[in-house]
Amino acid sequence: MTTKKPETLLIHPSREVPAGFRSLVPSTERASTVLFDSVAKWKQRSGLDESTYVYGTMGTPTTRDLQNRIADWEGGHNSVLFPSGLAAVAYAFLPFVEPGDHVLVPSNAYEPVKTLANGLLKRMNVTVEYYDPAIGAGISAQIRANTKLVWVETPGSITMELSDLPAIAAAAHAAGALVAIDNTYSAGWYLRAFEKGADISVHALTKYPAGHSDLVMGSITTKDESTWRRVKEMALQTGQCVAPDDVYLVLRGLPTMPMRIKHAERVALSIAHWLKTRPEVKLVLHPALPDCPGHDIWKRDFTGSTGVFSFVLQDQHGADAAARLIDSLELFGIGASWAGIGSLALTYDLSKSRTDWPHPGALIRLNIGLEDEGDLRADLERGFAAL
Ligand SMILES: *Cc1c(COP(=O)(O)O)cnc(C)c1O
Repeated sequence: MTTKKPETLLIHPSREVPAGFRSLVPSTERASTVLFDSVAKWKQRSGLDESTYVYGTMGTPTTRDLQNRIADWEGGHNSVLFPSGLAAVAYAFLPFVEPGDHVLVPSNAYEPVKTLANGLLKRMNVTVEYYDPAIGAGISAQIRANTKLVWVETPGSITMELSDLPAIAAAAHAAGALVAIDNTYSAGWYLRAFEKGADISVHALTKYPAGHSDLVMGSITTKDESTWRRVKEMALQTGQCVAPDDVYLVLRGLPTMPMRIKHAERVALSIAHWLKTRPEVKLVLHPALPDCPGHDIWKRDFTGSTGVFSFVLQDQHGADAAARLIDSLELFGIGASWAGIGSLALTYDLSKSRTDWPHPGALIRLNIGLEDEGDLRADLERGFAAL
């Protein structure tokens, strides 16, 4: 019989829950405080020691489980989790640049990367220079003695051009610069970033890994220990962490990720081929189609395509027509992000962000979700009728 008072027992129960429970699914462990066995153990703590636990911000079994799984599927050393894909993008730059340094970013990069480059990085006196995503080995000409990092996004998230990652990586490495890739397009499933030369692979876990449009999260995976350590140190310094319940949702999404990607791949490819036959469509920008700039690179480096792609309308259909088409769709939602359960459509004005883009027509990007293909095609026919 315990002699402790009820208030105490609510915090320190007298009976232990039996050990030995095993579920097929991962558990969700929550913590601010993590308990230690002794003061001596507490004194030995280290936020960089991934075999131990220190504090809620520094990792729990739930977050480590997700880190390990990402590192496993990417074939990397280890990962660090961030509260959004964009936060992960920022932490792929910040640990590696100092005032006076230079970084290279492709002109087709995800727009918020440019905002970061032109905002915080510029304020840190880091020079950001843009390069043509088709430049390949020619990037050598833009690499300077103070170039610390080359950012790659392939395919580009709206215009879908492929970049020659192995050639860019060879040139960057020859000059001692790191290569970081935004690997969100296929969740790394169809591109082995480290085998193709990347040192750092960034994911918006928001997309295919979570896969249900209900959370935002990001990750950085590195090829080696020393690069991981620099990212982790900066994440610890600035208290970057993610909520265990959100991590659980990503862990829950992962086992079905390959099946979801395969479905999106099949339907997207079929709709892309059909769009090519439509008289209203000038160009279909899908990496698996020969019209896509860098298609040969996709064939060489990727083992598949996914559910996001774009098309350009014939010249007589301008921005208003693209808006009318999208507004008339019933199944395709209008909104940012992609790789979730529902199909989405958006039109982009590239005239300011991409002065080097050679196709001036109205561009529409589709995200193919998990709906039936025939229903999606009928919806798009409705859109074309509205033109
Ligand atoms: C969505 C996305 C991001 C950012 O992810 P968030 O979790 O939305 O911040 C970064 N890169 C690419 C290519 C994306 O599509």
